[in-house]
Amino acid sequence: MNKLIHSVTVVTMDNKNSVFDGFVIVKDDKFHEVKQGTPSEYDKNQADEIINGSGKWLLPGLINSHGHLGSAFLRGAGDDIPLMTWLKTVMWPNEQKFTEEIVKNAASLAMVEMVKSGTTTFLDMYHLYMDKMAELAISSEMRTVLCRGMIGLCPDREQDEKIAESIQLFHDYNGVNKGKVTVALSPHAPYTCPPSFMIKVVDAAKKNGMWIHTHLAETKGEVDRHIAEHGVSPVKHMDDLGLFDVPSLIAHGVHLTVEDLHILCEKNVSVAHNPMSNLKLGSGIAPIPDMINKGITISLGTDSTASNNNLDLFEEMRFAALIHKGTHEDPTVTTSEMILRMATNWGAKALQLEKLGKIKAGYQADFILVNPNSAHLLPSDKKRVLSHLVYSAKGSDVTDSFVGGVHIMKDKELLSLDEEKIIFEAKAFQI
Ligand SMILES: [Zn+2]
Repeated sequence: MNKLIHSVTVVTMDNKNSVFDGFVIVKDDKFHEVKQGTPSEYDKNQADEIINGSGKWLLPGLINSHGHLGSAFLRGAGDDIPLMTWLKTVMWPNEQKFTEEIVKNAASLAMVEMVKSGTTTFLDMYHLYMDKMAELAISSEMRTVLCRGMIGLCPDREQDEKIAESIQLFHDYNGVNKGKVTVALSPHAPYTCPPSFMIKVVDAAKKNGMWIHTHLAETKGEVDRHIAEHGVSPVKHMDDLGLFDVPSLIAHGVHLTVEDLHILCEKNVSVAHNPMSNLKLGSGIAPIPDMINKGITISLGTDSTASNNNLDLFEEMRFAALIHKGTHEDPTVTTSEMILRMATNWGAKALQLEKLGKIKAGYQADFILVNPNSAHLLPSDKKRVLSHLVYSAKGSDVTDSFVGGVHIMKDKELLSLDEEKIIFEAKAFQI
């Protein structure tokens, strides 16, 4: 199945950061050709479907590298309180009441919100009904990394069951739907997972060829308590336990020492930067410019709607671009290109996904179309597109979305998710 999308401004995010007027040809799930100018008669004759891009911007679908979809119904349930109080009084007590239906409806709502604001790939760390989440992900046609979140503060037998569940998820779903679903191991955090449990997780990762995603160094209090209890920083401790001997992505990384940064760099650990969640929970601001200078891979995450409170990566990009300029009193520490890479090809790298996040022949055909004909995106020329995408665009400017060549949103209408039904069910939610 060949698709030809013409009359678009292509934002490639390739190594030269090329932006040009042209067209793309998608063959099955990948880009076959990405070219400047107009398609030939031959190109048109070869296409099964021809889409007129009408001057829209075509760019890689956005990648959300950290979230918790199952808790989407806790949006607004507990604002303006610190992380630990929030977890203990809002999140965990409410989640104990969650049924399969609630989790499925909440995750579906989150997927609607993500697709409508330009996200094509997401990582989901959650502890309930992840097999059902995998089925939802498959039917949505989104690209997904699934992580069964594990808290290790429980008896040995329960710990082992959680790890076994994660491995089963990996065997059942890793690589399904033409590779759109992958599975990673996910111990929740050092403050909820004792060292003995972390060692078991590392062992399971090595035996099964899985990578690891965990929360790390999110708040100062958590880091201080860890040092008081174990004598070393959580990053150093996780490294000592062997966590970073397997490919790893940490969420947050807000409170890091110079030695921590060195470890993350040496061990090629990626970081999911969640600026809005970190600000809302008063956790602090991650030293992203320092990490980028060291060559650490930075991706962008929203965290859950309970600590953000939305899943619009355009907002997340803008926050990521602005807060570091402010705290450093230096506007040069972030650039629009850097921020867009966090949400595209750096995000793909952080999620261990190859050939994703660029508009390039041979890459996965995950892309979105953005309508530039709005007052807040004018005046527009190719030199300003990256700037507009980071400093001015909104998720609602996205009109179309494709994942692995599958058209999942057309002129703002969702094709793989039943938006009306999902909104109806969300409105009916009560707890
Ligand atoms: Zn999180």
